[in-house]
Amino acid sequence: MTSTHLSEHIVSDNQLLLDGKEVPAAAGETFERVSPAHDVVVARYARAATEDVDRAVTAARRAFDTGPWPHRPGAERARVLHRVGELIRRDREQLARIEALESGKPISQALDEVDGSADLWEYAATLARHSYGDAHNDLGADVLAMVVNEPLGVVSIITPWNFPLLIVSQKLPFALAVGCTAVVKPSELTPGTTVQLGRLLLEAGCDEGVVNIVTGAGGIGAAMSGHPGSDMVSFTGSTAVGRKVAAAAGQQLKRVELELGGKNPQIVCADADLDAALDAVVFGVYFNAGECCNSGSRVLVHSSIADEVQAEIVARAARVPVGDPLDPATKVGAITSDEQLSVIERYVAEGHASDAELLLGGTRRRTDVGRFYEPTVFAGVTPGMSIAREEIFGPVLSVLTFDTLDQAIEIANSTMYGLSAGIWTTDINAALVASRRLRAGTVWVNRWMDGYPELPFGGYGASGEGRELGRQAISAFTQTKTIQLQVGPRTTRWVPGGAER
Ligand code: NDP
Repeated sequence: MTSTHLSEHIVSDNQLLLDGKEVPAAAGETFERVSPAHDVVVARYARAATEDVDRAVTAARRAFDTGPWPHRPGAERARVLHRVGELIRRDREQLARIEALESGKPISQALDEVDGSADLWEYAATLARHSYGDAHNDLGADVLAMVVNEPLGVVSIITPWNFPLLIVSQKLPFALAVGCTAVVKPSELTPGTTVQLGRLLLEAGCDEGVVNIVTGAGGIGAAMSGHPGSDMVSFTGSTAVGRKVAAAAGQQLKRVELELGGKNPQIVCADADLDAALDAVVFGVYFNAGECCNSGSRVLVHSSIADEVQAEIVARAARVPVGDPLDPATKVGAITSDEQLSVIERYVAEGHASDAELLLGGTRRRTDVGRFYEPTVFAGVTPGMSIAREEIFGPVLSVLTFDTLDQAIEIANSTMYGLSAGIWTTDINAALVASRRLRAGTVWVNRWMDGYPELPFGGYGASGEGRELGRQAISAFTQTKTIQLQVGPRTTRWVPGGAER
């Protein structure tokens, strides 16, 4: 592993964004982020504590209750959001570099993500002009009613380390589009692009206090989800923490939106275009080093082609370029943290212990610096094994087999998750049956992992609650008010006799 261009690595001091100003944490504490691929410090951040969360929520509350943002015409908010998209594109190289250095992901992929993030801001800008309701003119001669959508209020947004800029961009612009204000907490592993985004929001003309950013770890997320000053929590991360977020929010009857884990199956039928399917299987599991809620971490292969498919998967996986995230040729970069590396190693040990057959990898990659894991393939996996049921969040593929489509669908649906699923077949009926019966928020037929701002995203079961993206996304951040208007004089009287004077 070579540490390319170490002298160009960014070491900068970043503060909290509170009420439109960059300020230190109240206690003056800071923390550093070390590049997981290069073992060098790449940034320093303010370490927020619960009192800083309080400052952030207070600022967001004030901006919502008294500020101009919720009352601006949608067209004005749309201009700000669109401008943010433009500024993200302007700064794409810088943002991608921060993302690669902090997360360990390949720079080529980081650039794609930055472009995708800009697209999300631009799409959300279009929705800012479409938050309208209904009129009821058919309820009777004396009544006209309106159903209007109002911004919900202050939204707490807690984001993970695997797609930092993309995931905040799946939430924040949609909340802002309808007039909400926000407190954002990025993962302490990858705060950089969110901090930069805060600066771009101010440059784009977003009002002070509308977006507040707190960096740090250890109790910040819980303080946000339990804070009485916010109206909603939007969280992406593990199912275990998602449950805690929902419990805390439930105590205060806040709205919750959760994007959680997955154990996403790709079904490969005997009649599939195998060249395309197997490329997608290898891409699906090793993309972002498998640190991906949509990771295709299970492949279900028809038993008649299992030997051929396993051999070809191993051959292709062995050719995936693993290495320095700053090298444009790299496809799999570093594992983002020591903790995640330990999780991967624990699951691989469980795979061995459950008698799955290791066909490739199964170890760390030996390097002078950083933390890397070999693309790994287990065959002979059965549905009851932990490597078939639980989210590993690493470059580990479990190969299972099936004999009938019914059996494949049953296995696919047999985990607690339901984020995404896919089928590879040339039989249109098999594709339609599977699309209907797979219990997942997204089903891909002869493709994998593509996403579009226009298409809703989210999970069944333990994969989450609610949906992001698509034109419905803004309704997560509004509440509905019914307004009834009397037309003409009120002619009926409830009290017998009516007026005495
Ligand atoms: P987690 O998903 O477990 O979440 C950590 C984040 O949750 C931190 O920001 C933390 O804030 C916050 N948090 C912790 N407790 C609470 C609470 N009670 N209320 C609100 N927020 C809280 O991330 P990890 O990094 O620990 O990853 C663990 C596993 O999660 C991974 O192995 C992977 O399986 C999964 N994961 C899934 C992702 C996805 O895209 N769906 C993304 C990332 C991880 P604080 O530090 O302030 O406590």
